[in-house]
Amino acid sequence: MNQSALITGGTRGIGLGVARKLAESGFNLMLNGVRDASSVSAVLDSLKETGADITYCQADISQKEGRDRLVQEVLDHYGGLNVLVNNAGVAPLQRNDLLDMSEESYDRVMTINLKGPFFLTQMLSKHMVERKQTDEQYFGCIINIGSVSATVVSTQRGQYCISKAGMGMMTQLFAVRLGALGIPVFEVRPGVIETDMTAGVLEKYQKLRDQGLFVEPRLGAPEDIGSVVASLASGSFRYSTGNVIVVDGGLTIPRL
Ligand code: NAD
Repeated sequence: MNQSALITGGTRGIGLGVARKLAESGFNLMLNGVRDASSVSAVLDSLKETGADITYCQADISQKEGRDRLVQEVLDHYGGLNVLVNNAGVAPLQRNDLLDMSEESYDRVMTINLKGPFFLTQMLSKHMVERKQTDEQYFGCIINIGSVSATVVSTQRGQYCISKAGMGMMTQLFAVRLGALGIPVFEVRPGVIETDMTAGVLEKYQKLRDQGLFVEPRLGAPEDIGSVVASLASGSFRYSTGNVIVVDGGLTIPRL
């Protein structure tokens, strides 16, 4: 295989779980994040052991300049792109009541979690469409990492819920726009996954786990998400564009 994937926020947490599985599946990877290259070199070296070509671009996807540079680097380095994984995202810096949410916090979360991925996808979609029109065999695919927070209310982090609900519509919009051109768009919707993002509230979720919140009685691991993304990126989910794959251990199954 000589296919390439771009994973935003790909050097830790869920993004790294995705990177591992895609590298093991034979993808060459462009990873992106906000940390400087020297801080992620050990992670890159461990991924290189799979034999994949691994490169890194430090860029803030919430900024146009960052997105433009990232797209230029990926196209220059690989001459094209097959799979875009929109994974980078943030929680609010502080959880606080909906009635006290600041505009600053709302803007920060929405710009990183929704506006950035939207415009990055817009740019790379154009590239994928061009490739598909000149090469029937070309495989392009877009995978968005959403969240069960798209449908599960948390009044302490409303801006996060709104951003992930928006990503649900973004997935459908691009699925419809690109579907006829043979470029599928999927959303993977994690439940509670053990990463830096959830480290501060780990105890709370462990208690909820013990009380039966998850049907499968454990928190998720980045590799759980990575496996699903790798299956989608393999092209084996045919005739399924626009679908949401919920990876939450049964958290969102309504129970009585
Ligand atoms: P994390 O904090 O461990 O990793 C987030 C990554 O995104 C980091 O590598 C960070 O550098 C990168 N990032 C943040 N802002 C960025 C920016 N402006 N530009 C480029 N990169 C940026 O978090 P995680 O738990 O691995 O989350 C990954 C994705 O999964 C997020 O979109 C998150 O909303 C989603 N998610 C997480 C959980 C969970 O329980 N951990 C559940 C559902 C969805």
